[in-house]
Amino acid sequence: MTTPVTGFIHSTESFGSVDGPGIRFIAFMQGCRMRCQFCHNPDTWNIGGGVERSTDDVLNEALAYREFWGDKGGITISGGEPLLQLDFLIDLFKKAKAQGVHTTIDTCGKPFSREEPFFSKFEELMEYTDLLLFDIKHIDNDQHKILTANGNQNILEMAQYLSEIGKPVWIRHVLVPERSDYDEYLIRLDEFIKTLNNVDKVEILPYHTMGRYKWETLGLKYPLDGIEPPTKERVENAKQLLHTEDYQGYLTR
Ligand code: SF4
Repeated sequence: MTTPVTGFIHSTESFGSVDGPGIRFIAFMQGCRMRCQFCHNPDTWNIGGGVERSTDDVLNEALAYREFWGDKGGITISGGEPLLQLDFLIDLFKKAKAQGVHTTIDTCGKPFSREEPFFSKFEELMEYTDLLLFDIKHIDNDQHKILTANGNQNILEMAQYLSEIGKPVWIRHVLVPERSDYDEYLIRLDEFIKTLNNVDKVEILPYHTMGRYKWETLGLKYPLDGIEPPTKERVENAKQLLHTEDYQGYLTR
């Protein structure tokens, strides 16, 4: 008997409607090394926390909702940062694809590296992955460090690699006043996205403060104190500068 592949799961959601096409089962993986100032799930950061579950266990839970997925829905693995648990993802998605399930990963890309052993595993995972929801938190490396405590170089390299292999992505960008919501940065982000040939959708996610109470519960100081969500006008401005209307989600319709 082979040993079951397991991963550390923070929680699951049966009927997700914003993390990929259609209605989806979402598993939030435990563990993240980024420290985004706007994070609304700081309770997923702790590596080694969560509940250890096998891929069969998670897949069976997901498949119980299959009748609600229609021809667009499926499974999304979010987090936390899913790419910290590659073995779990490979095994889960291999089994999901064998059953014809649409597979999506929601990632910030930070663990990406062309070094081994990461790269070979990531290549294998891409064989079983239909779509990535790819968060680019900030186009400017210095500002990315302020916003997330990490640089963005390997994140942009991952975006370029996914373009090279033609893997569909939805680029997601959280619009944060006083951080990313400046025309200069949005124009630079637009220029970068235009160099990619695999972008199916570009989404602006307005920063919100709904996760604030979790920081307080964890005894952490909320870093964006006093910063309000962007106005409708600024969200519209960001959509125009990033030409979101030009990306219609054709690949995943
Ligand atoms: S990458 Fe996601 S989970 Fe990690 S800190 Fe940023 S927003 Fe939070």
